[in-house]
Amino acid sequence: MSRGQGFASFNSVARGFLTPDVGPVEDEDCGVANCEDGAVYRVPWPQFGGDVAYCPFHLARYRDQYPDIFERVQAAVDEDLTALATRGQRWLSIEEVPVRIRQGRYRRVGVTARGFALFEATEPDEDGQVTYVLVDRNLDYRDAIQVSSEQCGAFLEDFDDRRGFFEWDQDVLEALRGGEVQ
Ligand SMILES: [Zn+2]
Repeated sequence: MSRGQGFASFNSVARGFLTPDVGPVEDEDCGVANCEDGAVYRVPWPQFGGDVAYCPFHLARYRDQYPDIFERVQAAVDEDLTALATRGQRWLSIEEVPVRIRQGRYRRVGVTARGFALFEATEPDEDGQVTYVLVDRNLDYRDAIQVSSEQCGAFLEDFDDRRGFFEWDQDVLEALRGGEVQ
């Protein structure tokens, strides 16, 4: 292939990325890493040209984060996007999550990519174990994990790799970065 042809095909691929393709999708995974739900609709990517296919929950989060873009897309298409965007029992952002739960015994750590909130016990138990709980919007447990108090920082990094935090609690993040959590 000559350089000219390579450049032309690169350009057409680049244009494909820069032209939003909007509409219902089937048999495709949600565009959010760490989300295993099937995508239902493709919407414009907010920061630059292109598009992303989202499951109902991530469509709801997109509406929450980019209400203007959501309204513009809704005005332009036949499907009822608002009906497709369903949050279920999940959190859309860290601002909705209480800072403390269980009589203050658990503090907020962050919201995962799938919309559940992770909390950390403020005190280790008598065996030096710190309990983490993952909760939905009803504050019902989705998961509970015990970690030895020296391993909390490593646990949170690993949890972030596996589940992906959408948003961290700023105080927890600063403590992690400052090395206060070990
Ligand atoms: Zn999703």
